[in-house]
Amino acid sequence: MPELPEVESLRRYLVRERLPGSVFERVEIESKPSPETGTGAISDLTRLPGRRVERLERRGKQIAVVLDEGVLGLHMGMTGRIEVLAESEPTPRFTRVEFFLRNDTNGTKNFRMVLADPRRWGAIRTFTDLREAFAGLGPDALDPGFTAEHFAEAVGHRKSQIKPLLLDQSLIAGVGNIYADEALHRVGISPARRANRISGKNLHSLYLAIRESLEHALEFILSHPDDRGRPFIVDAHDDRMRLRRKSGAFCPRCEIPLRTKSFGGRTAYYCSNCQH
Ligand SMILES: [Zn+2]
Repeated sequence: MPELPEVESLRRYLVRERLPGSVFERVEIESKPSPETGTGAISDLTRLPGRRVERLERRGKQIAVVLDEGVLGLHMGMTGRIEVLAESEPTPRFTRVEFFLRNDTNGTKNFRMVLADPRRWGAIRTFTDLREAFAGLGPDALDPGFTAEHFAEAVGHRKSQIKPLLLDQSLIAGVGNIYADEALHRVGISPARRANRISGKNLHSLYLAIRESLEHALEFILSHPDDRGRPFIVDAHDDRMRLRRKSGAFCPRCEIPLRTKSFGGRTAYYCSNCQH
């Protein structure tokens, strides 16, 4: 699933491809009836033609394409992938929406932006403004304005276990399952620890570990583009992580087998020896 680092690398890719400054000319939405999989919504996009893209914002896993009037929200869901293609290039399999754009700011560029999404959990929606597009999301985990003090305020007094709190997008936006596990392992905190039982010093270390894990992953993705400069969606088994998320994997520190435990349906990988 695309997480914060993948989505941020996608945002930067769309900026490089000159989405800002472009005007939507038309939109084509897949006309086939929706199969049983997926609940991702595609909202009414008829007002999009003629709208100009001003800039791209991101909070957590949500991209907001800020227009001269309104906002277009892009959410990748489980398997969504957005690509910029020249007019003549073939449409990828599983394409759900095709946007035709034109950018006249520095020589004319006509291009398409497509959402291909085999499992159809991605969502493309229009919003009145940024506030509506990011409704329900806490501060972005990589936002420079999101400090260790904010982190401690958001989770430190809560009696819930730390793992589900980290995944709660209304508290902090963009900490996915694999990054939460990685950060908790780095600082030796059990995913089952109650947040209010973690010392201030350890909360500070956890904040730093979350930022480092996400920044490291973003660096990794940015330095491994595909042959056309596109960010690729990587799985959890690449070199970004110290923790190997598969059964039988060992703790990278003490080398005993990792354990797994489910928190609200999300599997945590952790070391019972190193994490308390
Ligand atoms: Zn260990």
